[in-house]
Amino acid sequence: MELTLWTYEGPPHVGALRIAASMEGVHLVLHAPQGDTYADLLFTMIERRQRRPPVTYTTFQARDLGGDTAELVKRSIQEAVDRFQPEALLVGESCTAELIQDQPGSLAAGMDLGGAPVVSLELPAYSKKENWGAAETFYQLVRHLLKAQMPAPGTPPPSPQRWRAEGRRPRVNLLGPSLLGFRCRDDVRELTRLLGAEGIDVGVVAPLGARPADLARIPAADANVCLYPEVAGSVCSWLERRFGQPVVRTVPIGIGATRDFLGELRQVLGMEEQPMAPESSSQLPWYSRSVDSTYLTGKRVFIFGDATHAIAAARVASRELGFEVVGLGSYSRELARDVRAAARELGLEALISDDYLEVERAMAEAMPELVLGTQMERHSAKRLGIPCAVISSPLHVQDVPARHAPQMGWEGANELFDSWVHPLMMGLEEHLIGMFRHDFEFVEGHRSHLGGQAPAEPATAPASTVALASGSPGPASEERTPVGTSDPSWDPTGEAELAKIPFFVRGKVRRNTEAYAREQGLALIDGEALYAAKAHFSA
Ligand code: SF4
Repeated sequence: MELTLWTYEGPPHVGALRIAASMEGVHLVLHAPQGDTYADLLFTMIERRQRRPPVTYTTFQARDLGGDTAELVKRSIQEAVDRFQPEALLVGESCTAELIQDQPGSLAAGMDLGGAPVVSLELPAYSKKENWGAAETFYQLVRHLLKAQMPAPGTPPPSPQRWRAEGRRPRVNLLGPSLLGFRCRDDVRELTRLLGAEGIDVGVVAPLGARPADLARIPAADANVCLYPEVAGSVCSWLERRFGQPVVRTVPIGIGATRDFLGELRQVLGMEEQPMAPESSSQLPWYSRSVDSTYLTGKRVFIFGDATHAIAAARVASRELGFEVVGLGSYSRELARDVRAAARELGLEALISDDYLEVERAMAEAMPELVLGTQMERHSAKRLGIPCAVISSPLHVQDVPARHAPQMGWEGANELFDSWVHPLMMGLEEHLIGMFRHDFEFVEGHRSHLGGQAPAEPATAPASTVALASGSPGPASEERTPVGTSDPSWDPTGEAELAKIPFFVRGKVRRNTEAYAREQGLALIDGEALYAAKAHFSA
């Protein structure tokens, strides 16, 4: 048992649903109790799809448990096939159905369904989560549909450079984009355009928008691009092993990564080195070099999300925007190793956790000036009074925008720049508030471009400690309760000097000074102690 309030990922059958709903001509029969249809709303409300996801639930109830639930499964499968006539049928079960062990996949295999391919899914709901479920479903579906095309063992792999001999442009598949992934729709649009300009065609995009017949065309491409390793990692590795298709694994989020991605692609496809596509197609390099961005240098940023987006964000933040990454983590346990490696490069230890309270504690501890995270971190950052931008699923409806808003490629870099800088106080305002502290309107922490009131001073203690103790998440001011009786206290001169420190770093200075005072055995912190601490930490 684990006490859980919020989860970063749903159960694995939601991952299966994501694959079915992303595709055309695929139907999922899910053995699940009445009520599990809640998952429909993820697609009709958050993704704002105009039709129900292609899923038939068996929706068994308590009274069905005394009867033949296996019969109910068979009836649901038959009805789904008769009504929807899918080109491929997925059969799986949700958490509760897993306990009653009806084996819906085997039941479907024993039925005469008129020849539609049937893929039975094993989704261990008590040990795996949504992304794993999506990856497994995608892998099983591709494997099933490509069974007949599998080359005999020992067949030499096709050359990824055969396009030249065949007198055509090189062709790659984009694998991994799906509904409920972060900005997948626009990433695909952006990359298709970008690759087209490089002279590279896009073969199959899957699962998003693909039909089963499209999956059968995957081997016809010269290489696979693994856009979202959480969803397409296992299928890409399998295609590489079985069909000899090379995989491009650099995820093109940010200017540097997009350049590396194109470099890797050209190398795999044996294309000539070309002068790099002009950076001018993205504003990020110039915007981040322009003088207005000087105040961004060294801003402390805490990053958390799925592995793909967290790793990419860390690179953009540290190398392209001049931020200092003070925390990096992910809830994607399957890709923890990659996140750890990225964190090590930044001199950090990665936080791998799916407990949002632990993430919130680490966030409070790191005292960032900006948080890049998921929908959950948005809530935590709000409680702590820290600006935040969302970079990864889980997402809410505002992160499925009507406008074109990719994360990948040149245009994606523009979007990153705007959306990450937007929550920060603007340079002039930051400067003026630092100089004139007694304005009745532009008070400390005020960010007038956001049109709201000033947030509370960033908390110095993890909100969760207080939230748990009091039974509810209290306002930030409650969260600054001193931690213990032996803690040093502040005298008025110390408080006055502390008030001169700019709002967004004050929490960190407060904490450092208190640590210094404890180290020095000071019971009272005055102005002098504050400056002694400052000298001590900058020495
Ligand atoms: S079967 Fe799983 S997803 Fe459905 S209500 Fe129960 S725990 Fe939730």
